[in-house]
Amino acid sequence: MHLIRLLSIALILTLVAGAPVRALTLLRDPDIEYALKQLAAPVLKAAGLSPSRMDILIIDDRSLNAFVVDRSAIFIHSGLLLKMQNAEMLQAVLAHEAAHIANGHLVRRPIALRNARTAAGLGAVLAGAAVAVSGNGQAAAAAAAGASNTALRLLMVHTRAEENAADQSGMRYLAGAGINPQGMVQVMEIFRGQEALSVSRQDAYARTHPLSSDRYRVLQRLAAGYADRARKDPNADYWFARAKSKLSAFERSPKWTLNRAGEYGYKDVKLMRQAVAWHRQSNLRKSLPAIDGAISLRPKDPFLHELRGQILMESRQIKPAVAAYARSTNLAPNNPLILGAYGRALLADGQVKKATQVLEKARARDGRDARVLRDLAAAHAKQGNNGMASVLTAERYAMGGRMKDAGIHAQRASGLLPRGSAAWQRAQDVLSASEAAAKK
Ligand SMILES: [Zn+2]
Repeated sequence: MHLIRLLSIALILTLVAGAPVRALTLLRDPDIEYALKQLAAPVLKAAGLSPSRMDILIIDDRSLNAFVVDRSAIFIHSGLLLKMQNAEMLQAVLAHEAAHIANGHLVRRPIALRNARTAAGLGAVLAGAAVAVSGNGQAAAAAAAGASNTALRLLMVHTRAEENAADQSGMRYLAGAGINPQGMVQVMEIFRGQEALSVSRQDAYARTHPLSSDRYRVLQRLAAGYADRARKDPNADYWFARAKSKLSAFERSPKWTLNRAGEYGYKDVKLMRQAVAWHRQSNLRKSLPAIDGAISLRPKDPFLHELRGQILMESRQIKPAVAAYARSTNLAPNNPLILGAYGRALLADGQVKKATQVLEKARARDGRDARVLRDLAAAHAKQGNNGMASVLTAERYAMGGRMKDAGIHAQRASGLLPRGSAAWQRAQDVLSASEAAAKK
Protein backbone atom coordinates (compact mmCIF):
# COMPACT_ATOMS: atom_id res chain seq x y z
CA MET A 1 0.00 0.00 0.00
CA HIS A 2 2.65 2.37 0.98
CA LEU A 3 3.51 2.87 -2.62
CA ILE A 4 1.48 6.01 -2.27
CA ARG A 5 3.91 7.30 0.30
CA LEU A 6 6.86 6.73 -2.01
CA LEU A 7 4.93 8.10 -4.91
CA SER A 8 4.25 11.28 -3.02
CA ILE A 9 7.87 11.70 -2.06
CA ALA A 10 8.83 11.00 -5.62
CA LEU A 11 6.24 13.47 -6.86
CA ILE A 12 7.93 16.14 -4.80
CA LEU A 13 11.18 15.01 -6.34
CA THR A 14 9.61 15.38 -9.78
CA LEU A 15 8.49 18.87 -8.99
CA VAL A 16 11.83 19.86 -7.54
CA ALA A 17 14.16 18.13 -9.95
CA GLY A 18 11.93 17.64 -12.96
CA ALA A 19 12.56 13.92 -13.14
CA PRO A 20 10.73 12.25 -16.03
CA VAL A 21 7.44 10.48 -15.37
CA ARG A 22 7.04 7.01 -16.80
CA ALA A 23 3.38 6.08 -17.07
CA LEU A 24 2.32 2.77 -15.59
CA THR A 25 0.38 0.35 -17.73
CA LEU A 26 -2.75 -1.36 -16.56
CA LEU A 27 -3.12 -4.89 -17.81
CA ARG A 28 -6.80 -5.38 -18.54
CA ASP A 29 -8.15 -8.87 -19.17
CA PRO A 30 -11.75 -9.89 -18.48
CA ASP A 31 -10.77 -13.47 -17.60
CA ILE A 32 -8.01 -12.52 -15.15
CA GLU A 33 -10.05 -9.74 -13.54
CA TYR A 34 -13.02 -12.06 -13.08
CA ALA A 35 -10.76 -14.71 -11.59
CA LEU A 36 -9.27 -12.21 -9.15
CA LYS A 37 -12.74 -11.05 -8.16
CA GLN A 38 -13.63 -14.65 -7.36
CA LEU A 39 -10.58 -14.85 -5.11
CA ALA A 40 -11.23 -11.46 -3.52
CA ALA A 41 -14.96 -11.83 -2.87
CA PRO A 42 -14.80 -13.89 0.36
CA VAL A 43 -12.00 -11.68 1.72
CA LEU A 44 -13.84 -8.44 0.93
CA LYS A 45 -17.07 -9.77 2.46
CA ALA A 46 -15.19 -10.67 5.63
CA ALA A 47 -13.80 -7.10 5.63
CA GLY A 48 -17.30 -5.64 5.33
CA LEU A 49 -16.55 -4.28 1.86
CA SER A 50 -18.70 -4.77 -1.23
CA PRO A 51 -17.12 -7.19 -3.74
CA SER A 52 -19.29 -5.86 -6.57
CA ARG A 53 -17.99 -2.32 -6.08
CA MET A 54 -14.32 -3.21 -5.96
CA ASP A 55 -12.11 -4.17 -8.89
CA ILE A 56 -8.82 -5.98 -8.67
CA LEU A 57 -6.64 -4.38 -11.34
CA ILE A 58 -3.31 -5.60 -12.65
CA ILE A 59 -0.43 -3.25 -13.36
CA ASP A 60 1.96 -4.57 -15.97
CA ASP A 61 5.15 -4.54 -13.96
CA ARG A 62 7.53 -7.38 -13.11
CA SER A 63 8.37 -6.01 -9.66
CA LEU A 64 6.42 -7.19 -6.62
CA ASN A 65 3.88 -4.77 -5.26
CA ALA A 66 0.25 -4.27 -4.30
CA PHE A 67 -1.49 -1.10 -3.16
CA VAL A 68 -4.79 0.72 -2.82
CA VAL A 69 -5.55 4.36 -3.53
CA ASP A 70 -9.29 4.51 -2.95
CA ARG A 71 -12.26 2.26 -2.21
CA SER A 72 -12.82 1.28 -5.85
CA ALA A 73 -9.84 -0.93 -6.60
CA ILE A 74 -6.92 -2.94 -5.32
CA PHE A 75 -3.89 -2.76 -7.62
CA ILE A 76 -1.58 -5.75 -8.01
CA HIS A 77 1.61 -5.88 -10.05
CA SER A 78 1.72 -8.70 -12.59
CA GLY A 79 5.06 -9.72 -11.05
CA LEU A 80 3.40 -10.29 -7.68
CA LEU A 81 0.61 -12.45 -9.14
CA LEU A 82 3.18 -14.56 -11.01
CA LYS A 83 5.15 -15.03 -7.79
CA MET A 84 2.23 -16.34 -5.74
CA GLN A 85 2.24 -20.14 -5.42
CA ASN A 86 -1.35 -20.71 -4.34
CA ALA A 87 -4.72 -19.02 -3.95
CA GLU A 88 -4.21 -18.46 -0.21
CA MET A 89 -1.09 -16.35 -0.77
CA LEU A 90 -2.86 -14.08 -3.20
CA GLN A 91 -5.87 -13.85 -0.88
CA ALA A 92 -3.53 -12.86 1.95
CA VAL A 93 -2.21 -9.92 -0.10
CA LEU A 94 -5.78 -8.91 -0.93
CA ALA A 95 -6.76 -9.18 2.75
CA HIS A 96 -3.93 -6.89 3.83
CA GLU A 97 -4.83 -4.27 1.22
CA ALA A 98 -8.55 -4.58 2.01
CA ALA A 99 -7.66 -3.93 5.65
CA HIS A 100 -6.07 -0.59 4.74
CA ILE A 101 -9.38 0.40 3.15
CA ALA A 102 -11.68 -1.00 5.84
CA ASN A 103 -9.59 0.50 8.65
CA GLY A 104 -9.96 3.96 7.16
CA HIS A 105 -6.27 4.42 6.38
CA LEU A 106 -7.07 6.32 3.18
CA VAL A 107 -9.19 9.03 4.71
CA ARG A 108 -6.36 11.49 5.26
CA ARG A 109 -5.15 11.15 1.67
CA PRO A 110 -5.26 14.21 -0.53
CA ILE A 111 -8.50 14.08 -2.53
CA ALA A 112 -6.59 14.11 -5.81
CA LEU A 113 -5.02 10.79 -4.87
CA ARG A 114 -8.26 9.17 -3.86
CA ASN A 115 -10.14 8.89 -7.13
CA ALA A 116 -9.09 6.00 -9.32
CA ARG A 117 -12.65 5.51 -10.58
CA THR A 118 -12.45 8.16 -13.31
CA ALA A 119 -9.98 8.25 -16.17
CA ALA A 120 -8.48 11.56 -15.06
CA GLY A 121 -8.17 10.50 -11.42
CA LEU A 122 -6.62 7.19 -12.35
CA GLY A 123 -4.11 8.97 -14.60
CA ALA A 124 -2.96 11.19 -11.77
CA VAL A 125 -2.66 8.23 -9.44
CA LEU A 126 -0.79 5.99 -11.84
CA ALA A 127 1.53 8.70 -13.10
CA GLY A 128 2.52 9.28 -9.49
CA ALA A 129 2.84 5.59 -8.72
CA ALA A 130 5.08 5.23 -11.77
CA VAL A 131 7.53 7.74 -10.39
CA ALA A 132 7.53 5.87 -7.13
CA VAL A 133 8.45 2.49 -8.56
CA SER A 134 11.01 3.85 -10.99
CA GLY A 135 12.41 6.39 -8.54
CA ASN A 136 15.60 5.51 -6.81
CA GLY A 137 15.36 5.31 -3.07
CA GLN A 138 18.23 7.60 -2.17
CA ALA A 139 17.06 10.43 -4.38
CA ALA A 140 13.54 10.05 -3.04
CA ALA A 141 14.80 10.15 0.52
CA ALA A 142 16.84 13.27 -0.24
CA ALA A 143 13.79 14.95 -1.72
CA ALA A 144 11.74 13.94 1.28
CA ALA A 145 14.25 15.52 3.62
CA GLY A 146 13.86 18.78 1.73
CA ALA A 147 10.10 18.71 1.65
CA SER A 148 8.09 20.77 4.07
CA ASN A 149 6.64 19.09 7.13
CA THR A 150 3.15 19.95 6.02
CA ALA A 151 3.60 18.17 2.72
CA LEU A 152 5.05 15.15 4.44
CA ARG A 153 2.29 15.04 7.01
CA LEU A 154 -0.25 15.21 4.24
CA LEU A 155 1.37 12.67 1.97
CA MET A 156 3.04 10.10 4.20
CA VAL A 157 -0.17 8.83 5.62
CA HIS A 158 0.83 5.30 6.51
CA THR A 159 2.32 4.72 9.88
CA ARG A 160 3.81 1.55 11.22
CA ALA A 161 0.81 1.32 13.55
CA GLU A 162 -1.51 1.31 10.56
CA GLU A 163 0.67 -1.36 8.96
CA ASN A 164 0.39 -3.60 12.02
CA ALA A 165 -3.34 -2.97 12.17
CA ALA A 166 -3.64 -4.02 8.51
CA ASP A 167 -1.77 -7.25 9.30
CA GLN A 168 -4.05 -8.05 12.23
CA SER A 169 -7.27 -7.21 10.39
CA GLY A 170 -6.11 -9.02 7.26
CA MET A 171 -5.51 -12.18 9.28
CA ARG A 172 -8.95 -11.83 10.86
CA TYR A 173 -10.59 -11.57 7.40
CA LEU A 174 -8.76 -14.67 6.20
CA ALA A 175 -9.90 -16.60 9.27
CA GLY A 176 -13.44 -15.27 8.89
CA ALA A 177 -13.52 -16.43 5.28
CA GLY A 178 -12.10 -19.86 6.14
CA ILE A 179 -8.91 -19.20 4.16
CA ASN A 180 -5.68 -20.75 5.40
CA PRO A 181 -3.78 -17.84 7.04
CA GLN A 182 -0.50 -19.61 6.41
CA GLY A 183 -0.64 -17.92 2.99
CA MET A 184 0.23 -14.62 4.66
CA VAL A 185 3.33 -16.15 6.26
CA GLN A 186 4.34 -17.62 2.88
CA VAL A 187 4.03 -14.16 1.29
CA MET A 188 6.22 -12.63 3.97
CA GLU A 189 8.81 -15.38 3.47
CA ILE A 190 9.27 -14.21 -0.13
CA PHE A 191 10.32 -10.83 1.16
CA ARG A 192 12.49 -12.05 4.02
CA GLY A 193 16.08 -11.14 3.50
CA GLN A 194 15.23 -8.18 1.30
CA GLU A 195 15.62 -5.89 4.30
CA ALA A 196 19.34 -6.50 4.10
CA LEU A 197 19.48 -5.24 0.52
CA SER A 198 20.00 -1.59 -0.30
CA VAL A 199 16.73 0.25 -0.82
CA SER A 200 17.15 0.50 -4.59
CA ARG A 201 17.50 -3.30 -4.91
CA GLN A 202 14.48 -4.15 -2.79
CA ASP A 203 11.15 -4.93 -4.39
CA ALA A 204 8.66 -2.11 -4.04
CA TYR A 205 6.51 -4.26 -1.77
CA ALA A 206 9.40 -4.78 0.61
CA ARG A 207 10.20 -1.04 0.60
CA THR A 208 6.60 -0.16 1.30
CA HIS A 209 5.85 -3.02 3.69
CA PRO A 210 8.88 -3.14 5.97
CA LEU A 211 9.16 -6.65 7.36
CA SER A 212 10.75 -6.49 10.72
CA SER A 213 11.42 -9.79 12.47
CA ASP A 214 8.84 -8.65 15.02
CA ARG A 215 6.21 -8.31 12.35
CA TYR A 216 7.07 -11.72 10.95
CA ARG A 217 6.79 -13.37 14.37
CA VAL A 218 3.42 -11.74 15.02
CA LEU A 219 2.14 -13.00 11.66
CA GLN A 220 3.35 -16.52 12.38
CA ARG A 221 1.62 -16.53 15.76
CA LEU A 222 -1.63 -15.22 14.27
CA ALA A 223 -1.48 -17.81 11.49
CA ALA A 224 -1.00 -20.63 13.99
CA GLY A 225 -3.92 -19.35 16.06
CA TYR A 226 -6.28 -19.27 13.07
CA ALA A 227 -5.06 -22.48 11.39
CA ASP A 228 -8.07 -24.58 12.46
CA ARG A 229 -10.45 -22.21 10.63
CA ALA A 230 -9.09 -23.12 7.18
CA ARG A 231 -11.23 -25.01 4.66
CA LYS A 232 -10.41 -26.14 1.13
CA ASP A 233 -11.95 -23.95 -1.54
CA PRO A 234 -11.98 -25.63 -4.99
CA ASN A 235 -13.46 -22.49 -6.58
CA ALA A 236 -10.54 -20.36 -5.36
CA ASP A 237 -8.01 -23.01 -6.45
CA TYR A 238 -9.50 -23.13 -9.94
CA TRP A 239 -9.64 -19.37 -10.49
CA PHE A 240 -6.16 -18.91 -9.12
CA ALA A 241 -4.89 -21.44 -11.69
CA ARG A 242 -6.85 -19.63 -14.41
CA ALA A 243 -5.57 -16.15 -13.56
CA LYS A 244 -1.95 -17.13 -13.16
CA SER A 245 -2.02 -19.40 -16.20
CA LYS A 246 -3.48 -16.79 -18.51
CA LEU A 247 -1.20 -14.05 -17.28
CA SER A 248 1.92 -16.19 -17.57
CA ALA A 249 0.88 -17.47 -21.00
CA PHE A 250 1.00 -13.89 -22.25
CA GLU A 251 4.02 -12.77 -20.20
CA ARG A 252 6.37 -15.76 -20.36
CA SER A 253 7.81 -17.38 -23.48
CA PRO A 254 5.51 -19.81 -25.37
CA LYS A 255 8.09 -22.53 -24.82
CA TRP A 256 7.98 -22.01 -21.04
CA THR A 257 4.17 -22.18 -21.14
CA LEU A 258 4.00 -25.31 -23.30
CA ASN A 259 6.42 -27.11 -20.98
CA ARG A 260 4.12 -26.75 -17.97
CA ALA A 261 0.66 -26.24 -19.51
CA GLY A 262 -0.88 -29.05 -17.48
CA GLU A 263 0.69 -28.29 -14.11
CA TYR A 264 -2.56 -27.41 -12.31
CA GLY A 265 -4.48 -30.50 -13.43
CA TYR A 266 -7.41 -28.68 -15.08
CA LYS A 267 -7.82 -29.83 -18.68
CA ASP A 268 -9.50 -26.62 -19.87
CA VAL A 269 -6.76 -24.49 -18.31
CA LYS A 270 -4.13 -26.60 -20.03
CA LEU A 271 -5.83 -26.15 -23.42
CA MET A 272 -6.23 -22.40 -22.83
CA ARG A 273 -2.50 -22.07 -22.05
CA GLN A 274 -1.59 -24.05 -25.16
CA ALA A 275 -3.94 -21.92 -27.26
CA VAL A 276 -2.24 -18.72 -26.09
CA ALA A 277 1.27 -20.12 -26.52
CA TRP A 278 0.60 -21.36 -30.06
CA HIS A 279 -1.19 -18.13 -30.90
CA ARG A 280 1.88 -16.20 -29.82
CA GLN A 281 3.89 -18.37 -32.20
CA SER A 282 1.40 -17.31 -34.93
CA ASN A 283 0.25 -20.90 -35.24
CA LEU A 284 -3.50 -20.58 -35.79
CA ARG A 285 -3.70 -24.18 -37.01
CA LYS A 286 -2.82 -25.37 -33.51
CA SER A 287 -4.16 -22.56 -31.34
CA LEU A 288 -7.71 -22.62 -32.72
CA PRO A 289 -8.34 -26.35 -32.02
CA ALA A 290 -6.85 -25.84 -28.53
CA ILE A 291 -9.20 -22.98 -27.61
CA ASP A 292 -12.10 -24.90 -29.18
CA GLY A 293 -11.18 -27.86 -26.98
CA ALA A 294 -11.29 -25.64 -23.90
CA ILE A 295 -14.65 -24.24 -25.00
CA SER A 296 -16.07 -27.75 -25.48
CA LEU A 297 -15.29 -28.38 -21.79
CA ARG A 298 -16.85 -25.08 -20.64
CA PRO A 299 -19.23 -24.04 -23.46
CA LYS A 300 -20.86 -21.24 -21.44
CA ASP A 301 -17.62 -19.63 -20.30
CA PRO A 302 -17.65 -16.12 -21.83
CA PHE A 303 -13.92 -15.62 -21.29
CA LEU A 304 -12.90 -18.60 -23.41
CA HIS A 305 -15.04 -17.25 -26.27
CA GLU A 306 -13.42 -13.84 -25.72
CA LEU A 307 -9.96 -15.41 -26.02
CA ARG A 308 -11.10 -17.17 -29.19
CA GLY A 309 -12.14 -13.75 -30.51
CA GLN A 310 -8.74 -12.29 -29.67
CA ILE A 311 -6.87 -15.14 -31.37
CA LEU A 312 -8.96 -14.71 -34.52
CA MET A 313 -8.80 -10.91 -34.45
CA GLU A 314 -5.00 -10.90 -34.12
CA SER A 315 -4.82 -13.45 -36.94
CA ARG A 316 -6.78 -10.97 -39.09
CA GLN A 317 -9.86 -13.20 -39.28
CA ILE A 318 -12.18 -10.28 -38.64
CA LYS A 319 -15.59 -11.77 -39.37
CA PRO A 320 -15.02 -14.98 -37.36
CA ALA A 321 -13.65 -12.76 -34.57
CA VAL A 322 -16.83 -10.66 -34.59
CA ALA A 323 -18.85 -13.89 -34.27
CA ALA A 324 -16.73 -15.15 -31.35
CA TYR A 325 -17.02 -11.84 -29.50
CA ALA A 326 -20.78 -11.75 -30.17
CA ARG A 327 -21.06 -15.17 -28.51
CA SER A 328 -18.96 -13.97 -25.58
CA THR A 329 -21.11 -10.84 -25.25
CA ASN A 330 -24.27 -12.97 -25.22
CA LEU A 331 -22.86 -14.91 -22.28
CA ALA A 332 -21.67 -11.81 -20.38
CA PRO A 333 -23.71 -8.89 -21.74
CA ASN A 334 -22.49 -6.36 -19.17
CA ASN A 335 -18.78 -7.09 -19.05
CA PRO A 336 -17.08 -3.85 -20.16
CA LEU A 337 -13.87 -5.51 -21.32
CA ILE A 338 -15.72 -8.03 -23.46
CA LEU A 339 -17.93 -5.26 -24.85
CA GLY A 340 -14.80 -3.24 -25.63
CA ALA A 341 -13.24 -6.12 -27.55
CA TYR A 342 -16.49 -6.78 -29.41
CA GLY A 343 -16.81 -3.10 -30.35
CA ARG A 344 -13.26 -3.06 -31.62
CA ALA A 345 -13.92 -6.04 -33.89
CA LEU A 346 -17.12 -4.43 -35.17
CA LEU A 347 -15.18 -1.27 -35.94
CA ALA A 348 -12.55 -3.27 -37.84
CA ASP A 349 -15.39 -4.90 -39.76
CA GLY A 350 -16.69 -1.47 -40.79
CA GLN A 351 -19.86 -1.67 -38.65
CA VAL A 352 -19.30 1.82 -37.26
CA LYS A 353 -22.78 2.54 -35.86
CA LYS A 354 -23.07 -0.77 -34.02
CA ALA A 355 -19.47 -0.46 -32.84
CA THR A 356 -20.23 2.98 -31.38
CA GLN A 357 -23.21 1.62 -29.42
CA VAL A 358 -21.26 -1.31 -28.04
CA LEU A 359 -18.16 0.77 -27.20
CA GLU A 360 -20.30 3.45 -25.53
CA LYS A 361 -21.84 0.76 -23.33
CA ALA A 362 -18.34 -0.47 -22.47
CA ARG A 363 -17.12 3.03 -21.60
CA ALA A 364 -20.17 3.83 -19.47
CA ARG A 365 -19.47 0.71 -17.39
CA ASP A 366 -15.75 1.19 -17.05
CA GLY A 367 -14.01 4.39 -18.12
CA ARG A 368 -10.52 3.04 -17.43
CA ASP A 369 -9.91 1.10 -20.62
CA ALA A 370 -7.64 3.26 -22.77
CA ARG A 371 -8.22 1.08 -25.80
CA VAL A 372 -11.98 1.62 -25.62
CA LEU A 373 -11.43 5.38 -25.33
CA ARG A 374 -9.25 5.31 -28.45
CA ASP A 375 -11.59 3.08 -30.49
CA LEU A 376 -14.64 5.05 -29.47
CA ALA A 377 -12.92 8.32 -30.42
CA ALA A 378 -12.12 6.81 -33.84
CA ALA A 379 -15.74 5.67 -34.25
CA HIS A 380 -17.06 9.14 -33.39
CA ALA A 381 -14.53 10.85 -35.66
CA LYS A 382 -15.63 8.61 -38.55
CA GLN A 383 -19.17 9.88 -38.04
CA GLY A 384 -18.11 13.53 -37.79
CA ASN A 385 -18.75 13.82 -34.02
CA ASN A 386 -15.57 15.77 -33.34
CA GLY A 387 -16.60 16.99 -29.89
CA MET A 388 -17.12 13.42 -28.68
CA ALA A 389 -13.86 12.33 -30.28
CA SER A 390 -12.01 15.16 -28.49
CA VAL A 391 -13.39 14.46 -25.01
CA LEU A 392 -12.49 10.76 -25.35
CA THR A 393 -8.99 11.65 -26.50
CA ALA A 394 -8.68 14.04 -23.55
CA GLU A 395 -9.70 11.26 -21.16
CA ARG A 396 -7.25 8.83 -22.73
CA TYR A 397 -4.34 11.29 -22.33
CA ALA A 398 -5.39 12.00 -18.75
CA MET A 399 -5.40 8.31 -18.02
CA GLY A 400 -1.85 8.06 -19.32
CA GLY A 401 -0.79 10.94 -17.07
CA ARG A 402 -0.28 13.31 -20.03
CA MET A 403 -2.23 16.09 -18.37
CA LYS A 404 -1.09 18.92 -20.65
CA ASP A 405 -2.21 17.13 -23.84
CA ALA A 406 -5.37 16.11 -22.01
CA GLY A 407 -6.09 19.76 -21.27
CA ILE A 408 -5.67 20.81 -24.92
CA HIS A 409 -8.16 18.19 -26.12
CA ALA A 410 -10.58 18.91 -23.27
CA GLN A 411 -10.50 22.60 -24.23
CA ARG A 412 -11.31 21.70 -27.83
CA ALA A 413 -14.12 19.38 -26.71
CA SER A 414 -15.61 22.12 -24.50
CA GLY A 415 -15.93 24.37 -27.53
CA LEU A 416 -17.60 21.70 -29.66
CA LEU A 417 -20.00 19.98 -27.23
CA PRO A 418 -23.37 21.33 -26.09
CA ARG A 419 -22.75 23.26 -22.88
CA GLY A 420 -24.00 21.35 -19.84
CA SER A 421 -24.25 17.98 -21.63
CA ALA A 422 -22.82 14.89 -19.93
CA ALA A 423 -19.88 14.75 -22.36
CA TRP A 424 -19.22 18.51 -21.86
CA GLN A 425 -19.14 17.87 -18.11
CA ARG A 426 -16.58 15.11 -18.63
CA ALA A 427 -14.44 17.58 -20.58
CA GLN A 428 -14.68 20.01 -17.62
CA ASP A 429 -13.50 17.26 -15.26
CA VAL A 430 -10.41 16.66 -17.38
CA LEU A 431 -9.83 20.42 -17.70
CA SER A 432 -9.80 20.95 -13.97
CA ALA A 433 -7.54 17.91 -13.42
CA SER A 434 -5.17 19.30 -16.04
CA GLU A 435 -5.20 22.77 -14.45
CA ALA A 436 -4.57 21.27 -11.02
CA ALA A 437 -1.60 19.33 -12.43
CA ALA A 438 -0.18 22.49 -14.04
CA LYS A 439 -0.33 24.39 -10.72
CA LYS A 440 1.76 21.82 -8.82
ZN1 LIG B 1 0.33 -2.28 3.98
